[in-house]
Amino acid sequence: MSGKMLEVDEARRLVAAATPRMPIEEISLAAARGLVLARAARARALVPPLSCSAMDGYAVRAADLAGRERTRLRVTQEIMAGDLPAAPLAKGEAARIMTGAPLPQGADSVVMVEVTAADGADGVVIQGPAKLGQHVRQQGEDLTPGAAVLAPGALIGSAAIGLLASAGCSRVAVYRRPRVAVLATGNELVPMEQEPGTGCIRNSNGPALCAAIHEAGGIPVDLGIARDEPGATLDAVRRGLDEADCLVTSAGVSVGDRDFVGDAFAAAGVERVFWRVKQKPGKPLYFGVAAGKPVFGLPGNPVSSLVIFEQYVRPAIRWMRGLEGAGRQWLQARAAARIAGAPKRLTWIRVELAREGDQWRVRPAGAQGSSVLATLARAHGLVTVAPGEVLEPGDPVEVRVIRDEVLLDHQRFHSSGAKRIKTV
Ligand code: AMP
Ligand code: MG
Repeated sequence: MSGKMLEVDEARRLVAAATPRMPIEEISLAAARGLVLARAARARALVPPLSCSAMDGYAVRAADLAGRERTRLRVTQEIMAGDLPAAPLAKGEAARIMTGAPLPQGADSVVMVEVTAADGADGVVIQGPAKLGQHVRQQGEDLTPGAAVLAPGALIGSAAIGLLASAGCSRVAVYRRPRVAVLATGNELVPMEQEPGTGCIRNSNGPALCAAIHEAGGIPVDLGIARDEPGATLDAVRRGLDEADCLVTSAGVSVGDRDFVGDAFAAAGVERVFWRVKQKPGKPLYFGVAAGKPVFGLPGNPVSSLVIFEQYVRPAIRWMRGLEGAGRQWLQARAAARIAGAPKRLTWIRVELAREGDQWRVRPAGAQGSSVLATLARAHGLVTVAPGEVLEPGDPVEVRVIRDEVLLDHQRFHSSGAKRIKTV
C-alpha cells in the first residue's frame, strides 16, 4: 500500500463524509431504549385525555368560594380515576375527586382535601377561596393529536419511553443499531482464555474493541483471530463485511512483511479512502468503504487501536446510529506537569485529572508508549497536542474525558465554579 500521509482533521472529515446513517426501522417502543429516533414521534391522543384532577380533594366551581373564608358545599358524587362523572356539577355543589379522575361538567377547580372538612353525611366545608383552574390538568394540556412528542435525533431513555407511551406512540421509527465486526490479526495471538506459547501473547485488542463498540452503542460481532496469511485474512474480512455494517480490524496494516490486511481489504472490494495519518499513536490507520460499509484497519499496538477507535470509530458508530460527535465531555484544566507531543505529528497524551481548589490539574497518566495499556486504563482523558507543541506547568489545557466517573465527580465540582467547556 502507498498513499499520502493525511492531517488528522482531513482524515476525520473523510471518515465523516463516507459514513452513512443506518437504515430506519419501525419497532416496538418497548425495544427502543438506547436507540435514536429517526422521525418525529407524533401524539396519537390528547394527554391528558380529559380535564382531570391533579390532587385528591373536591372539584368545585371557584365562583362558589369567591371572597369567603369558609364555604359549605353539598357533595353530590364521588369520582375515582378511571370513572366518568355521574352528573354535571351545579352551583353550591362539590364532587369528591381523586387524582387523575375527570372533572364533572361545571367544575373548574379542585381544592385539596387538606383544606376541607366533612360536614354531615352530604356536606363539606372548604376553607378559603380557590384560584380558578387550580389543581386541574386541562384536557390536551400536555399533548394534542399530531403534536411532536420528540424530535428526530432524540436518544430514547426511560423518560422518553414514558412520554412516548403516554402519547400512544407504541411503535417508533429508529435507526437500526449498527453491527460492528472486530477482527484481530496476528500469528502471535491466542484467545485470551488460552495460555500463550513461547513468543505468543493473548489477543487483548479483540475484547477491548468489542467493549468499546458496546460503549459507543454498536453491537460487536467478534470474528476472532486471523493468522497472518493472505487467505485467512481475506476470508475473515469477507465474513465481517457479510455479517456486519462496519468492520474494524487490528494490526497488520503497517509496512511489515506479514502485513496482509491492506491486501485483503483490496481483494474483498474495499475502496481505500486513506492510509496513514500524521498522528501519534496510530500513524498506520487505514480507512476504506465497501458497499457503503466503513472499514477501519486499526494499528495493532493496544493503545493505538483503542485511542484511534476513540478518535475515529466511536464518532462513526454514533453517526450510524443517529447521533453526532463522540459523545464526550471536555474539561478546561491546567497542566500540572510538562506535556509534550511528537515533533511532526499530532499527539494524544493519556492524562490523569486531579482537583486543586476550583481547578482541574492535568498530568500524563504514565509512560506514553503505544504498548503501555496500563496508562490508558488509568487515564481519565486525552489531551491533544499539536506537532512540536510543549505545554508547560500552569498552561491551560482542554481534556477530552473518556471515563464517565470523572464526569460524575465533575458534576459535584461544577457547582463550585469550574467550567465544563463543550461536548463533542
Ligand atoms: P502489528 O500492527 O501487526 O505490527 O502489531 C503491532 C503490535 O501490536 C505488535 O507488538 C503486536 O504483537 C501487537 N498486537 C497486535 N495485535 C494485537 C492484539 N490483538 N492484542 C494485543 N496485541 C496485539
Ligand atoms: Mg503483526
